[in-house]
Amino acid sequence: MAAPKPKKLTLESHSAAETQSLGGLLAPMLVPGDVLVMSGDLGAGKTTFVQGLAKGLGIVERVTSPTFVLMKEYQGGRFPLMHLDVYRLGKVQEVIDLGIDEYLDPSYVVVVEWGDKVEPLLPQDHLTIELVHGGADVRTITLTGKGAPWAGRMDSIKKMVEGLAVSSRASGPRLGEDFQPGSPTESGNN
Ligand code: ADP
Ligand code: MG
Repeated sequence: MAAPKPKKLTLESHSAAETQSLGGLLAPMLVPGDVLVMSGDLGAGKTTFVQGLAKGLGIVERVTSPTFVLMKEYQGGRFPLMHLDVYRLGKVQEVIDLGIDEYLDPSYVVVVEWGDKVEPLLPQDHLTIELVHGGADVRTITLTGKGAPWAGRMDSIKKMVEGLAVSSRASGPRLGEDFQPGSPTESGNN
């Protein structure tokens, strides 16, 4: 049976604070076992997004870049957060050696910076979050929900983002035009 077409949502952030707000807004939608796969160049704002997300989960500890420690876990929130960064791992084998399977704990939300590099090792059902540097403080952020657990949530996420855009008016994140409502009968690549 064909998988449902992934739903995409494109946003434009104009500041680090706005990117954190977007992360915070996603937090209430998450359930343990969710996997978020982040991509984007150095300085695109991946860690910044996770800072907002952790805060939204009720985690008090400040999230710092796990680039050099590879992985860090945060307790004390609605549920624990596993924050991985595979930037320094050159080969997929190194990520396997790191024991990524053990980190994909179903009682955690798992966020993987540079996760696109190791997508085959990650569950098929996941949310990809792609950040693209748009010059100065502008970042284009594209969320793509892959698999059934995300299909139903993308519409709610879009509504919440629209709420944020309205509440902060002109300075809020701008919503892209490419939201694809999709339907369970449509086919997609994955
Ligand atoms: P990454 O984890 O992708 O390497 P970081 O989140 O560590 O990126 O760094 C992003 C940097 O860009 C931070 O210094 C942050 O303050 C800055 N910045 C400026 N504008 C934005 C924005 N709109 N979204 C996210 N970060 C931004
Ligand atoms: Mg980072």
